[in-house]
Amino acid sequence: MAVELELYDVTIVGGGPAGLYAAFYSGMRDMKTKLIEAKDELGGRMLIYPEKMIWDVGGVTPIRCEKLIQQLIEQAQTFEPTIVLSQQVTGLKRLEDGTMIVTSNTGESHHTRTLILALGYGVMKHAKLELEGADRYEVTNLHYTVTELEGYRGKHVLLSGGGDTAVDWAMELESIAASVTVVHRRERFGGHEKNVKYMMESSMNIHTPYAIAQLHGSGNAIEAVTIARVDAEGRLTEETKRLEVDIVIINHGLLGDFGPIVDWGLEMGKWDIPVDERMATNIPGIFVAGDTANYSSKLHLIAGAFTDAALAVNGAKLYMDPAASKMAYVSSHNARFNEKNKALHITEEDA
Ligand SMILES: Cc1cc2nc3c(=O)[nH]c(=O)nc-3n(C[C@H](O)[C@H](O)[C@H](O)COP(=O)(O)OP(=O)(O)OC[C@H]3O[C@@H](n4cnc5c(N)ncnc54)[C@H](O)[C@@H]3O)c2cc1C
Repeated sequence: MAVELELYDVTIVGGGPAGLYAAFYSGMRDMKTKLIEAKDELGGRMLIYPEKMIWDVGGVTPIRCEKLIQQLIEQAQTFEPTIVLSQQVTGLKRLEDGTMIVTSNTGESHHTRTLILALGYGVMKHAKLELEGADRYEVTNLHYTVTELEGYRGKHVLLSGGGDTAVDWAMELESIAASVTVVHRRERFGGHEKNVKYMMESSMNIHTPYAIAQLHGSGNAIEAVTIARVDAEGRLTEETKRLEVDIVIINHGLLGDFGPIVDWGLEMGKWDIPVDERMATNIPGIFVAGDTANYSSKLHLIAGAFTDAALAVNGAKLYMDPAASKMAYVSSHNARFNEKNKALHITEEDA
């Protein structure tokens, strides 16, 4: 089976910022690269907040997240890696020659010398509203993420949730929606203090400790919501209110899932994989980058994902060829960019 498959130097699992930057950097190291992403689009968890402004990536002035994703994808494609979407990597088999076959949920196989797991916290799914029949409204006005703010203009929006993201969305929607109602099952919100204070003093309608008890709709659209007071034990009480709404947004968090990778024999924590200084795991040839990596000084930031990715690629390169340089030559003096620089028509002055 393996013989017919094309052999890659490195297969990167996960198309978030860590995986995307690894796909670029492995090109700098002249490695034949494949990237496999479970979702049908690249960007990882950045896809959760496409409209937010990102300020904390070095050298990048404030940028809308969706634009940064676009730039990361463009950069990842510099050395033309093979990119596979909509395949969740599930299985691993080591061949006698030390190379590996990874399989995916679609039944496809991939042959590789090394692996970089850039899984984030696994394949993420929104925690669903636990009400029978709620899913039928997902095609219309029951949303689990805010992707296009304009869609909320002039609408009466009810948002259920109390974490950072819920508070952020409520604040962003305030100036666009006709009204914003926030329902949270705890008395206190978990978001940044300053934002919570702003929200509490704003014109938003805040209901705590309340939770959605019932959705009222006709056809496939929600028209009103019954919320119920939550008691100290977390149970819904008989104290209810009925609210007319145009759109309901649920932000009850995300649930990650590493899937069958947990059975590969990797040393694993619940949400991460311990690594050494080269991002190597306990399984030879398997490296980790980004939020999946567990080491004492780990930065759970986009910027941290980039450093991890370069380290993991260098680790993979040295695993394949122990005589290789410990890191790539810097891009300003890397022959791989000579032709590309010419193509960019960089003038002497710019260069
Ligand atoms: C709301 C929010 C706001 C944030 N704001 C900022 C910010 O302003 N600045 C900042 O620096 N950071 C921010 N972060 C954190 C940042 O998004 C993460 O640190 C970053 O996305 C981690 O990148 P990653 O590539 O390690 O993982 P992820 O972005 O989680 O990407 C992992 C990818 O791997 C895929 N995957 C998982 N398992 C498999 C599998 N078995 N097979 C195939 N594919 C798989 C997933 O589908 C996913 O696409 C924010 C995070 C959130 C949730």
